[in-house]
Amino acid sequence: MTEYDYDLFVIGGGSGGVRSGRLAAGMGKRVAIAEEFRFGGTCVIRGCVPKKLYVYASQFHEHFEDAAGFGWTVGETRFDWATLVAAKEKEITRLEGLYRKGLENAKAEILNTRAVLAGPNTIRLTADDRLVTAERILIAVGGHPTPHHDLPGHDLCITSNEAFDLPSLPGSILIAGGGYIAVEFANIFHGLGVETTLIYRGREILSRFDQDMRRGLHAAMEAKGIRILCEDIMQSVVEDADGRRVVATKNHGDLVVDQVMLALGRVPNTRGLGLETAGVALNEKGAVVVDAFSRTNVSSIFALGDVTDRVQLTPVAIHEAMCFVETEFRDNPVSPDHDMIATAVFSQPEIGTVGMSEDAAAKRFDDIEVYRAEFRPMKATLSGRSEKTIMKLVVNAADRKVLGAHVLGHDAGEMAQLLGVSLKAGCTKDDFDRTMAVHPTAAEELVTMYQPSYRLRGGVRVP
Ligand code: NDP
Repeated sequence: MTEYDYDLFVIGGGSGGVRSGRLAAGMGKRVAIAEEFRFGGTCVIRGCVPKKLYVYASQFHEHFEDAAGFGWTVGETRFDWATLVAAKEKEITRLEGLYRKGLENAKAEILNTRAVLAGPNTIRLTADDRLVTAERILIAVGGHPTPHHDLPGHDLCITSNEAFDLPSLPGSILIAGGGYIAVEFANIFHGLGVETTLIYRGREILSRFDQDMRRGLHAAMEAKGIRILCEDIMQSVVEDADGRRVVATKNHGDLVVDQVMLALGRVPNTRGLGLETAGVALNEKGAVVVDAFSRTNVSSIFALGDVTDRVQLTPVAIHEAMCFVETEFRDNPVSPDHDMIATAVFSQPEIGTVGMSEDAAAKRFDDIEVYRAEFRPMKATLSGRSEKTIMKLVVNAADRKVLGAHVLGHDAGEMAQLLGVSLKAGCTKDDFDRTMAVHPTAAEELVTMYQPSYRLRGGVRVP
């Protein structure tokens, strides 16, 4: 027997914490996992899962409109927000139950309490002010939306945390930010009938993505009726006599809306966690500093997922968790591979992407070939909807390696998953060319773009 109460104590019941706890307990380790809110973390409770459900909900009005072109007559339609919120709640409660069940089946001890560090091997459970000890402690407490304290009136704004459970659907909303959350929620609210405006400080939304995807999505969103104000910021928010929000912007005057939502990034949940007491180092953003094996500077303490400053994505936290367990409990050091992570923005249309943007590739390689297709998806021919799909492959001319693959269009997220396998495997453009097309699909375009649309030599575009 060791001198500790547990072999592993996990703080945080989100994707990374639950996976670590379940795997380690399944190996017979004595594991406890503490969660102060609901099991499932941001992804299940107020992130990816409810978001995707709301994306589905917001797409129906276009489906109803499109149906006419295929011979259908759709009667009067009506949307009820409360029904959607209740259905979402039921589903995330079911998933939360599965997370708990997985831990129980593996014989991990579930503690419904906040847990804070009291030393390198000691944790204080705040619910009953009890101290427990563990040989290893894993911090997997995630993050929360940036509150933007610098903005006068920030307390009058909501974040994605509140957006899912608003008592009623607002008539109008202003969303601040140009990243994943801002763009996804702008499409959700617009699709549900809310007058939606996006305000973003940069020149074009989605700064980390390929220019073609950014411009294409911007145009598609505006064509739907979403107002996008780039190169602008909010200066203050006040409440008027009718309970509406009056937002002073730098370049577009005052805007009056029912709700203001901040989507300006997320910050790690490290405050008040006892990290200073235990001597755990944080970086300038307040994230726990870890090495390639998720080890902090304190040898008994580890951290993974959004509380570290790596890539804020659920599958990344899960992958880091599996590497952590493999390294610490199977004596097989494995570090997570953060290269070539495929990702999707569940905007409407979606963006699916993996690897380098054209601009990033042109900065790194001397000779780049760009294969680009822009076309009207087949469904739009009968529905009459004016929309475009854009596909793009960025290829290093020197060795024919596909450096980046980018899709804007229906099911782009699904395509990104498979493109991720191809690019991770190091496929060349010739591999794409010798792959038979699946017909008729949109994705077949990815294997039938035989001639480069243009090249970039030394960063300069040539035909
Ligand atoms: P992002 O980092 O994607 O975007 C933050 C946005 O806020 C950027 O447009 C940024 O501008 C802007 N911003 C930051 N600070 C300020 C400021 N002070 N004033 C004005 N604008 C500001 O964060 P999100 O909040 O959208 O999402 C958080 C993370 O969650 C993402 O990074 C992503 O990893 C994850 N996520 C993933 C999803 C998915 O996989 N589909 C969905 C939702 C979230 P700039 O670009 O100029 O820096």
